[in-house]
Amino acid sequence: MRPNARVRSIALSTTIALDTRAKDLIATGRDVVNMSVGEPDFPAPMAAQDAAVATVRGGKVRYTPAEGTGSLRKAIAEHVSATRGVAYTPAEITVCHSAKHALSGALLALIEQGDEVLCLLPAWVSYVEILRYAGAKPLEIPSRKDLGPDLAAIERAITPKTRGILLNSPNNPSGYVMSEAEVRAIGAVAEKHDLWIVTDEIYRRLVYSGAPNFSPASISPAMRARTVIVDGASKAFAMTGYRIGYVAAPVDIAAAVGRLHSQLTGCPNAVSQSAFEACLKSEPPEVQRMCDEFQRRRDVLVAGLRSLGLPCEMPRGAFYAFPDVSAFLDTRGSSGLCEDLLEEVELALVPGSAFGVDAHVRLSYATSLPIIEQALERMGRFLAKRRPSAASRTAR
Ligand code: PMP
Ligand code: GLU
Repeated sequence: MRPNARVRSIALSTTIALDTRAKDLIATGRDVVNMSVGEPDFPAPMAAQDAAVATVRGGKVRYTPAEGTGSLRKAIAEHVSATRGVAYTPAEITVCHSAKHALSGALLALIEQGDEVLCLLPAWVSYVEILRYAGAKPLEIPSRKDLGPDLAAIERAITPKTRGILLNSPNNPSGYVMSEAEVRAIGAVAEKHDLWIVTDEIYRRLVYSGAPNFSPASISPAMRARTVIVDGASKAFAMTGYRIGYVAAPVDIAAAVGRLHSQLTGCPNAVSQSAFEACLKSEPPEVQRMCDEFQRRRDVLVAGLRSLGLPCEMPRGAFYAFPDVSAFLDTRGSSGLCEDLLEEVELALVPGSAFGVDAHVRLSYATSLPIIEQALERMGRFLAKRRPSAASRTAR
């Protein structure tokens, strides 16, 4: 007996694999500084905790409708309408086990075998794997030098088989936040070539400077009709283990995701649904405090990386820094560098290769300032011993 070819072709999520490895090493007594996984180190807001306990104690822990409870779908519809500036009804919302589940549900509902889907690099680790599993051919589009979207490259990649585009702003791993003009320009390309857009807005609340995140659904009714929004509670409310997310989409697509999940996974967790609803209804003050703290950490981390001589764009959102380490790579690329960092100075990072951009590494700053300072100290010790690679010296 063995898994089928489709599943054999899927890699274990690099971020999850690295986090598990770092935690296993810590359990064996190794002093590992873990900057690998993107998971807020704050407790979930009190509103979420109280609602979860009340739901358990009140016994409201039965199956719910596959697409989520009516009251949560209403709360999400109101939240999406208010934040994206365009009206959504509860029928256009399907609650899912997580944003990952919402994303995979949306892609499985949209993709026909052989469709091409544009995937902008750097791209979060799960995008390419989910696209392939759904039967699509991912078209990976390199970014501009500042890690923003390269519109000319996007247009050039489109063929008659291209059906959709996957967007992620604020971006994991770069922290890049697309401007309204960039989103509008990509929207125009989608309209011109009749593409759907799946927009992963899981980091929408975590924007530290400049204009807020702009959704392609906000461009026009026509754009809203070709857009699926994916969002959830993991990042905004530090509720990673609660596993709760949603799609907001035209009713046929939202219903299709609900039908699919009714067969595959039943309904989302009843406890987490009420915890998420409590957060959406109360807008807990903890969120702003968490954002302010992330911004402080970002400033320390990016300044520290730059002072070590690593070029690093200032991330405007999410909680990752994505410095350029090309001067320190050997033939094993960023994964070799991360192996060495773990072995030599016990620092766990994610190689840029996991996001399709080998010249970089990702550091999550969803971790405390003392840990960030330790990470910088270890990185400094490591880089001081390692001279820039011959290849990059010739290139410069
Ligand atoms: N999209 C992106 C870009 C992410 O970084 C994550 C992180 N887990 C997810 C989706 C999935 O979030 P969730 O925990 O809700 O599955
Ligand atoms: N999204 C987080 C990360 O990129 C959590 C891990 C995962 O779901 O892949 O680290």
